[in-house]
Amino acid sequence: MERITAIVLAGGSGKRMNSSVPKQYLMLAGKPVLYYALHAFDESAATDIVLVAGAGGTDYCKEEIVHRYGIRKVCAVVEGGKERYDSVYRGLLAAENADYVLIHDGARPLVTADVIARSVAGAREYGACVTGMPVKDTIKQVGADGFADATPERRLLWQIQTPQAFRGPLIRDAYAKVLADVEQGRIDGGGITDDAMVLERASGRRVKVIEGSYRNLKITTPEDLVLTEAYLKMAETSD
Ligand code: C5P
Repeated sequence: MERITAIVLAGGSGKRMNSSVPKQYLMLAGKPVLYYALHAFDESAATDIVLVAGAGGTDYCKEEIVHRYGIRKVCAVVEGGKERYDSVYRGLLAAENADYVLIHDGARPLVTADVIARSVAGAREYGACVTGMPVKDTIKQVGADGFADATPERRLLWQIQTPQAFRGPLIRDAYAKVLADVEQGRIDGGGITDDAMVLERASGRRVKVIEGSYRNLKITTPEDLVLTEAYLKMAETSD
């Protein structure tokens, strides 16, 4: 049977949230933030889910989230690493035989069935695809002195989200290569903020950008939690 594995990342510490509780465990409309993404993948075409927890958080995730809320497809809960890319790599090792891998930030609770279905279809068609939306604001590159250095043309700019979806062997090989380069000091890991970048750096391969959703925001700062709760309410009333 074809294996489509969702890797859901919950290994971050959430420093920008000003909270002692990592953002993925904060409560959102009565349930932990992380529950929502797990539930969405549980209901999707994914055949299994690898959950990447924070340091020392695997038992908490298993008991308080996976078992408590009856998430059925979680086949492994592994401990994350220092950086997001370390956490993804650990997830990929637990998803060894996956034909397709969907990597998703556990801090994006509003991922929908449609977005997941488009990601699976995109991975099949293109081998590598990421979800995103055109930016609404003008984006400037700002120097260390606080002055703007450049203004890239807005109509070419997209904000990139997750899921990011790939053929399994493609993303596994890319991660192995790039992480070896980081370890040996050949590249600086500090600039690696998504999975598509890892593939681009490893192979120069171009990644397809498909339509995500403006609502699929990542909870990063306290106001994001308020917005997310409002979107959840809107979804309930429109159902
Ligand atoms: O820090 P950032 O907002 O980019 O994190 C995106 C996602 O990656 C979050 O869901 C977070 O829990 C996860 N992450 C991780 N391991 C890290 C850092 C972030 O799993 N070391």
